[in-house]
Amino acid sequence: MEAEATLAALLARGLRPTDDPREADVLVVHTCAFVEDARKESVDVLLELAASAKAPASAKAAADGSAAGAARPRGRRRPRLVAVGCLPQRYGEDLLRMLPEVDAVVGCNDLARVADVALGTERVLLSARPGAEELEPLASRASQLRHVRYLKVAEGCSRRCAFCAIPAIRGPARSRPPATLLEEARRMAGDGAVELVLVAQDVSRYGADRLGDRAGPPLLRLLERLGRLPELRRLRLLYLYPEVLDAGFLRGLRGLPKVVPYFDVPLQHVTDAMLRRMRRGTRRRDIDALLERIRATFVEPTIRSTFIVGHPGEGAADFRELLRFVRTAGLDRIGLFRYSDEEGTAAFGMGDKVSRGVGWARFRALRAAARAAMRERQRALRGRVVEVLVDGPAPESEWLRVGRTAAQAPEIDGVTYLTGGLPPPGKFVAARITRTSESDLVADLRVGAVE
Ligand code: SF4
Repeated sequence: MEAEATLAALLARGLRPTDDPREADVLVVHTCAFVEDARKESVDVLLELAASAKAPASAKAAADGSAAGAARPRGRRRPRLVAVGCLPQRYGEDLLRMLPEVDAVVGCNDLARVADVALGTERVLLSARPGAEELEPLASRASQLRHVRYLKVAEGCSRRCAFCAIPAIRGPARSRPPATLLEEARRMAGDGAVELVLVAQDVSRYGADRLGDRAGPPLLRLLERLGRLPELRRLRLLYLYPEVLDAGFLRGLRGLPKVVPYFDVPLQHVTDAMLRRMRRGTRRRDIDALLERIRATFVEPTIRSTFIVGHPGEGAADFRELLRFVRTAGLDRIGLFRYSDEEGTAAFGMGDKVSRGVGWARFRALRAAARAAMRERQRALRGRVVEVLVDGPAPESEWLRVGRTAAQAPEIDGVTYLTGGLPPPGKFVAARITRTSESDLVADLRVGAVE
């Protein structure tokens, strides 16, 4: 959604996007630096763009899903390359020193200045500490889907999980004012949004920092107000921290019919020893009770979680227990990360590091178990009639439509391929699930159909 805001800011300055970097006058790359793989990918994209953009440019400006473009100043021989986000925030000076192709770097607390920097000519480094401007309304434009939009409700995180560099990069949690969020949501709804995805590093603590309240009630109040916008049909929350999901909060969510029963709750691990080492503040019995509570409160909730494999101190018995949990807990969606040793985190200084080889072997074993478990959950859906929000033509063919059920979050989960018709994007349709894979569904619009 930060890339969306950048794109909107550049479009507001009269620029237009292009998919071809060789045609671009400015290339803006939104980066990630939370783990080693993400850093590598970000640097690879920067290098690739720098290489591919060496061909002479036309008079166009450029943008892609994570990049945005601007008119090239006369006489420039190559597009201006701007790196934005966590990577510059954390390694801005190193980036400029080691990648001469990069003209400017803008940290995640200076996003409001991306357009100025992109249109400038100086070599620039911006990596300010968190400020107040991030709480202002964001410029917004749907880069992909007009009917599905993201609402960033807070920035930063005040927790201190041992493995995580986010609090150091993004600063402590700062919730955006409800009035600002409502204004943004109203604008998006007026622009065609029917599904709103509320995002934050820890969305469950929304408002606890600025409203002097305990976590939970401010988010419920915000959801209630958003739910009153008649255009919005689905509200989705990413991500929820386990301890906030007590019985009262879950009952509050259940009373808000537009909030989809989709729980993305990163658990990270499941043994008490590992949860303590990771400084998660939860115990195994809390996790078991939480899953029970969610299932007791909602009819067929979708539960998604992520786990880290190979964190320092993870012994063979810890891993076996994690594997067993993933096989048996009945999670609908499972995301996995290999532990990445991040400077400045508590885990960085811990002994008992898991060797690279062991870490990879565990990751592969857990991935296979997760895939089998998700396949099984999906298979149980065959024959059901579900409501699908049509997103548009499938990438594979313009004669096929894709959409998502309430159980499929945009960009994170799989999609539903629709057969038997070509409904327009943004429409809700009923369809019967005929085939399933570990992540995707195939559903027929002729709801009587069974393959
Ligand atoms: S709650 Fe999430 S973002 Fe915050 S420190 Fe823990 S892992 Fe990082």
